This record gives sequence, structure tokens and C-alpha cells, in this order.
Amino acid sequence: MKMYPFIAAILLGIFLTAVVIPVVDGAELICEYCKRPITGEYIQVDGKCYHPEHFLCEKCRKPIGTGQYYKENDKYYCMSCYQTLFAPRCAYCNRPINGEYIQHDGKSYHKECYDRHVALRCALCGEIIQGRYIVDFWGNVYCAKHEGKIPQCESCGRFISQQVTNGGFEMADGRHICGICLRTAVVEFDEASHLLDVVRGHLDRAGIVIKQEAITLHLVDQRELREVSPSHWPDQLGIAVFEEYEADTYRLRTFDVYILSGLPRIKFIAVAAHELMHVWQYLESPRGNNAALCEGSCQYAASLVLQNYAGKEVEYNLTSIANDPSEMYGEGFRRVRRLIEKKGLGGWLDVLRTEKNFPAGY
Ligand SMILES: [Zn+2]
Ligand SMILES: [Zn+2]
Ligand SMILES: [Zn+2]
Ligand SMILES: [Zn+2]
Ligand SMILES: [Zn+2]
Ligand SMILES: [Zn+2]
Repeated sequence: MKMYPFIAAILLGIFLTAVVIPVVDGAELICEYCKRPITGEYIQVDGKCYHPEHFLCEKCRKPIGTGQYYKENDKYYCMSCYQTLFAPRCAYCNRPINGEYIQHDGKSYHKECYDRHVALRCALCGEIIQGRYIVDFWGNVYCAKHEGKIPQCESCGRFISQQVTNGGFEMADGRHICGICLRTAVVEFDEASHLLDVVRGHLDRAGIVIKQEAITLHLVDQRELREVSPSHWPDQLGIAVFEEYEADTYRLRTFDVYILSGLPRIKFIAVAAHELMHVWQYLESPRGNNAALCEGSCQYAASLVLQNYAGKEVEYNLTSIANDPSEMYGEGFRRVRRLIEKKGLGGWLDVLRTEKNFPAGY
């Protein structure tokens, strides 16, 4: 939430007018300009006297007479020269400002120029923003009053509306997806399965090799995800489940990755990387890592895989991962990042293999 820096002000240059005074009999007045005596009428400005036709504008040298003048550094200017030389200029049209103006971001504007060309307008209602407002990651600006009244897309944070997202969609399980995210939504199993392989390939090339185990992918809705997830929380997008059966003669391990259907492609990729990192940890450090180390590492794997892609949506997901306020995911990610800055990717994977916790100092 931001406050709009909005100041309306009046230009400070004060204009003055000279008056014509009749010469009193016997007074000896000398014109400041031509140095000749004055008879008849004269103009007095700051204690100095001028023939009415000799009170001149410093710039254009035309008589100001009893018209408006401005004083700057002890010199006198007619109104139009003063404006040209000294008046603040509108940062939009570059013409001098005289009268009401708007100051914004250290720049001055004619009120009209500001309203028409500079003012922030709400992406939803089109009104000029006054007072509190919201800016989303994508640069859309909204009046604060719309918050909570218009659904926001769970994948990108935009307000779902015709104007901003070209509409949107409420899924059968109650999730909201905007028209923009819908364009790349992963809903087909074949596409999901292909993307999971691609993500596994990215991890592989980064040195995070999942040892030849079959992984079964399930594309599910929120209700189905809740069924397999023992400690489900509202914005959970996926889960990796392992099961081990041991009998006298055999040992069977299964790996199931569940990911919500309908995530935009880039989000799906991030979730797939996260869940695959759980699989890797299960195989490589079966003693189980501390929650922040474990989830932070999965988030780090997601950010690592996202770096193979480009675009604003990638940036959005990377920013969300890095700025996540949660102790387990966000703080876990930032601690893992510090660890990798010092020890490198190989050092991080070694820590996961050999420790249950962050080493001291992280
Ligand atoms: Zn004179
Ligand atoms: Zn002038
Ligand atoms: Zn202007
Ligand atoms: Zn609005
Ligand atoms: Zn969206
Ligand atoms: Zn996780």
C-alpha cells in the first residue's frame, strides 16, 4: 500500500505594479534611467524615480509603465519575460507555470497536464488516484478501496477484471485464475508429465541428480490435494509423497508427486522443481532435514530451475520466493541462499546429505 504524494500549490512569484505620482512643485527628481530631471509625472519603485516611459524590463527593454512587473535579484521584468526566465516549467509540456500547479515526484505540472497525462489512474475504475493506492508487481495501480472486493488471481496477484486480466475464471474447487494465467494453465496430464521431465533435466544439469526412481505424477484439484496432504495449508500447490513397504524378501518404494491442475506454466515449473527437490532429499538424506532447511532447499531448487526461463512471470515467481515472509519457506530460502553464496551448490548438497540442520552461522 502506498500513499500518493500529492501537493497542490500556488506559484510564489508575487507581481507588483508601479504607480504614477505627480511631481510636487519645487522637488528636484532625477530619472534613474536617463539621469535627466523629471517634470510632470514619474514612477517610483523601491525609492528610485523614473520617467514613466523609462521604467524598463531588464530583458526586453520595453517600458513596463504601470503594468505588472516582477522583481528578481534587484532587477525588474515584465510579466512575460519573468515567466520565460524564472517561472517553473511544467515537466510535461515545458511551458511556464503561473498559478495552480501540481507537484509530484519532485516535478511540477500544470494541473491540466497532470490530470490528463501524468496522473495515476486506477486500472479498475479509471479514476485519478487520490490518497491510498495499491501497485501490483505488474505495474497496475488500483484504488485501495477495491482490495477485498474484487478477487485477486492466486497465481499472479492481479485483480481479476475485464480491464486488467481480460476476465478470469473460478475453478470448480473455488480457486480464482485470471485470464492472463489461464492462457498457459497446465490442465492436461501429458503436458504436465512432459514439464516434470523437463524440470528434472534442469535439476540434473545443476548437479541435483535424482537417482533412477520412477516418479508418478498426479494432476489434482484442491480437494484431492487435501486428501493426500496430512497438514494441508490454504495456498499449498503440490506435495511429494513417499511410501516404503518392507517385507522379508523385498523392499518397495513409491514416489508420488501431486500438483494442482490449472497453474500457469511457469508456476507449475516452480512447483514441480520444489517437489522433485523433496524427492532428491528423501533419497539423499533419508534421516530427514530440519523443516526450514528442507523447504528452503526446495524453494532454492525452484528458483534455480526458473533461471532457465525468461520473462516478467519468471521474475514475479522469483520475487515471491525471495520475499516470502514465512519462516519455513521464505527464511529457509534466504538461509540456503546465504549458504550457497559461501559454499557453492556442491557445498549445499553436501550439507543436505550429511547434516540435519543448517551449519552454525546460517
Ligand atoms: Zn528618464
Ligand atoms: Zn520584458
Ligand atoms: Zn503543462
Ligand atoms: Zn479504482
Ligand atoms: Zn493471474
Ligand atoms: Zn515442500
